[in-house]
Amino acid sequence: MPEGPEIRRAAALLDATLAGRVARRLTFARADLQSRARELEGRHIVSVRARGKAILTRFEENRYLYSHNQLYGRWQVSEDGRQPKSRRSLRLSIHTGGPAAFLYSASDIAILMQADLASHPYLARLGPELLDTAVDEATVLARIEDPRFARRGLVALLQDQRFLAGIGNYLAAEILHHCRIHPAARLRDLDADRRQTLADACLALPRQSLATGGITNTLSRATALQQRGASFEAARFQVYRRAGLPCYRCGRPIEKARFVGKTTYWCPACQAKEA
Ligand SMILES: [Zn+2]
Repeated sequence: MPEGPEIRRAAALLDATLAGRVARRLTFARADLQSRARELEGRHIVSVRARGKAILTRFEENRYLYSHNQLYGRWQVSEDGRQPKSRRSLRLSIHTGGPAAFLYSASDIAILMQADLASHPYLARLGPELLDTAVDEATVLARIEDPRFARRGLVALLQDQRFLAGIGNYLAAEILHHCRIHPAARLRDLDADRRQTLADACLALPRQSLATGGITNTLSRATALQQRGASFEAARFQVYRRAGLPCYRCGRPIEKARFVGKTTYWCPACQAKEA
């Protein structure tokens, strides 16, 4: 499932492809949306931005196309406007006469006016966007101190976009390992130092991932591993998808396990205690 940095990169690609152009034609798999395509056709596309795991394409006159990638959604663009070959089902396409964008497999799509955004069931409940440069450590720490979130197991809470927007499965595993926090620990189990460390990592790791194309390992280590012949996939993570391999910090094998409803990767030595 795509996480904040991956959605953000998809939005940046769509923005570079579509912004400033006129949407000549839109196609929707759903008939109810297709019947409303004319609300957007012929209008300029202003911008494409990520909001949590959703993407908002803004058109002239405060009109928006909302799409959420869900588990398997995937955007593709083509410079010549032709549809890329895919075995996935096409849900939406945006044609400009030049480049075009295609959304496959994701069915959570809506045409909205600006006034609808504040009451949209997904958008209205999103927590602070970790990849927005305006979101700072104090904002994240205030969220961590909020008693509403004190009792939930962290590996699940971190992936709840209502808590903080931008973290999914791999980032949750990497952040908890980085902070030496047990996957099932709760915020109320953490002392002030650990809360601070967690706030720092919740900003730093997603931002590093965005900047590096997905690396959450220590950058110097990831570089050294790749220089020794490791693939990008093998070098990018500290614990995620590394079950059975030694922890970089203590040497004990990383384990794959399920805590509070989420399958994750962790080091039983470095992340031993729930406090
Ligand atoms: Zn370890």
